[in-house]
Amino acid sequence: MDSTYTSPWMSDDVQSFRKTVRQFIQREFVPQQARWREQHRADAEAWTKAGAIGMLLPDVPQEYGGGGGTFAHEVVVLDELGRAGVHFGSSIQSIVARYILIHGREEQKRNWLPRMARGEVVSAIAMTEPAAGSDLQSIQTVARREGDHYVINGSKTFISNGSQAGLICLALKTDPKAAGPKGISLILVETNGLAGFRAGHPLEKLGRHGQDVSELFFDDMHVPASSLLGPAEGKGFFQMMDHLSYERLAVSVAAVATMERAVDLTTQYVKDRVAFGKPLIEFQNTRMKLAECKTDAQVGRVFLDSCIERFIAGRLDPVTAAMAKYWLTEREFHIADECVQLHGGYGYMVEYPIARMWADCRVQRIYAGTNEIMKEMIAWSL
Ligand SMILES: Cc1cc2nc3c(=O)[nH]c(=O)nc-3n(C[C@H](O)[C@H](O)[C@H](O)COP(=O)(O)OP(=O)(O)OC[C@H]3O[C@@H](n4cnc5c(N)ncnc54)[C@H](O)[C@@H]3O)c2cc1C
Repeated sequence: MDSTYTSPWMSDDVQSFRKTVRQFIQREFVPQQARWREQHRADAEAWTKAGAIGMLLPDVPQEYGGGGGTFAHEVVVLDELGRAGVHFGSSIQSIVARYILIHGREEQKRNWLPRMARGEVVSAIAMTEPAAGSDLQSIQTVARREGDHYVINGSKTFISNGSQAGLICLALKTDPKAAGPKGISLILVETNGLAGFRAGHPLEKLGRHGQDVSELFFDDMHVPASSLLGPAEGKGFFQMMDHLSYERLAVSVAAVATMERAVDLTTQYVKDRVAFGKPLIEFQNTRMKLAECKTDAQVGRVFLDSCIERFIAGRLDPVTAAMAKYWLTEREFHIADECVQLHGGYGYMVEYPIARMWADCRVQRIYAGTNEIMKEMIAWSL
């Protein structure tokens, strides 16, 4: 990014938070990456250490154990993780916290948020099922009310943080016969020692190996009726739609961080690598490609910043959030791909960060609503 540009939402406080987060990630997370990738998840102590420096739930009010900041603080965490090439599920933690903060009862907020902020509890949001991803209204996991409990049956797949989650915000049907989205509710499931609950091993993915994604199984799983999120059954679909802009913006922040990192790494590489007796950067094609990538990254940063500003002011509409998610993740993958090409064969070697970035960012076009669904949403506004 042009060094004279400052994001309009940046303040001294956010800048100093960024410095703390950057140093922490370099010191505590970066040296662990090879091991996280091997075990397909972060260590439990990574969560408590992140909690101790205020990196978890930075935009949740202090009275619930959070950092008391704004979305700008969350952006800084995502941006710094992206710049360091670290995949850590703190944004999922923030998403779940937001559900609890906005829709939870006081008792649920006091019970969960401080522990999540300290990293003692890791959380997951479980919507996707083997037979229902984009078509969320077709989920089949069901909760049957029995006295003061729900009895839950079904399964979920591709759930980030799933194998280590002590708390799952679970989307299911409390009324399978209700039309459309009306029968869907969200239930907060405490998994510790819970009979009928099973999390699978982390799934083998194409990239993002340091972060777990798992299947979850519910077999006559009993949870207290007080675990329902919100005032009544049947609100889950609307609660999810409310929060998707936050999630899509989080994905967009990671996309721009990856674009900028790819351009920086590749610029250095083409200055160092020599072919036909001169550094690669002296070939016009190399310069033109990197000029295009750098321009895309800069345009992306400015658009993203305008979305962040609007989000902080409570003015970001879902269509613009969908535009950001769609466009920025498409540009992210395009830039990663161009940068792999400029690395030649080394760009295909996993030991080179650019190869991992290419594989890691492919999923950005798929999760948090596929880019085809984003375009559908944008098209409805025409
Ligand atoms: C690494 C990873 C992490 C994830 N983390 C989570 C998580 O934490 N929680 C969670 O709940 N889910 C998670 N997911 C699931 C993710 O959100 C879904 O994979 C995604 O929503 C797509 O659903 P699907 O895989 O069932 O694909 P499908 O819905 O089957 O889509 C297949 C293809 O059809 C297209 N398509 C579908 N409907 C339409 C339409 N109406 N118009 C045009 N094209 C359409 C899609 O765009 C896609 O190209 C994760 C997935 C991955 C890979």
